[in-house]
Amino acid sequence: MAGLRASLPDCDRQEWPLSAAFEMTSMARYEAPHPKRNSFLSSLSAQDSRVLLAHGEVTHLKLKRQLYAENRPVESIYFPIDCVVSILVGSEGSLLEMATIGHEGFVGAPALLDNGGAIGTTIVQLEGKAMRVDMKVFQRAVARRPAIEHRVKLSLYALIFQIMQSGACHHLHTIEQQCARWLLLMRDGAGSDTFLLTQEFLSEIICVRRASVNLAVGLFRQAGYIRYGRGRVTIVDVPGLESASCSCYKLVGDQYARLAYTSA
Ligand SMILES: [Zn+2]
Repeated sequence: MAGLRASLPDCDRQEWPLSAAFEMTSMARYEAPHPKRNSFLSSLSAQDSRVLLAHGEVTHLKLKRQLYAENRPVESIYFPIDCVVSILVGSEGSLLEMATIGHEGFVGAPALLDNGGAIGTTIVQLEGKAMRVDMKVFQRAVARRPAIEHRVKLSLYALIFQIMQSGACHHLHTIEQQCARWLLLMRDGAGSDTFLLTQEFLSEIICVRRASVNLAVGLFRQAGYIRYGRGRVTIVDVPGLESASCSCYKLVGDQYARLAYTSA
C-alpha cells in the first residue's frame, strides 16, 4: 500500500499577524476564529495567555501540510483552533496515525523534552486555523511561568496516553470502529458536524485498504449516522456513530477533558 510520505506537499505557509486577523474580523471582512477556542490557551489565566497571544500569529494550515519531518528540529509550536493534526509513525514508506491533536491540545510538545528532532511525521488532517508560536518563545514562557509548565506536563501525559491507546486500537479494534472514532475526532476538531474528507485520505491515515474504508462509510450511511458526498461528510447521528466507535474515543477524550478542569 502506498504510504502518505509520497503525497505530502511542501510547506505553503499563509500567515498573518494575530492583530491583523482581529482587525479584519472587526471590519467584517473575515471571520477568524479566536485562538482561545484552543483549550490549552483558554485554560490559562489572562496574564499567562497574554504572553503567548502577544507572540502568536494565526496561520491557515492546508490539508496534508507537513508541519514537522521526522528527526528534524521543531521550530514552531501550533495551537489548533479549528484544524486537526496527526502524528504518524511507520517504516518502509508506510505511515500509521498514532495521535490526533485538535483544539484540545497543542502540537510539538515532545520537542520540549528534547528538540534533537521531531518524533514521527506531523501533517494536517483537517484544514483550518492554528496559532503559531516560535519554539524559543514558548520555551521561555514554559521556563518562566509555572502555570504554563504545569499545563505542558498535563498535555504530555494526555499525549502519551493517546499514543499508547492508539497502539492498542490499531490491533484490537475493527476498521469500522476505527473509522467511526476518526470521524468523531474530526467533528470535535472542526467544531462542526460537516467537514471535508476523502475516503482515500482516511484509508491512508488508518493504513487500511480503501475498499475497507468504503465499506465502513457505506455502513454508516445505511445506518443513518452520516451523509457523505463529493468529499464532504455530515454527521447526523452522533450517538449512533459513538455506538459504532470503540471505547478509545471516550478514553482519550476523557484525558483531554480532564485537562480543562485541572487547576494549575
Ligand atoms: Zn479503538
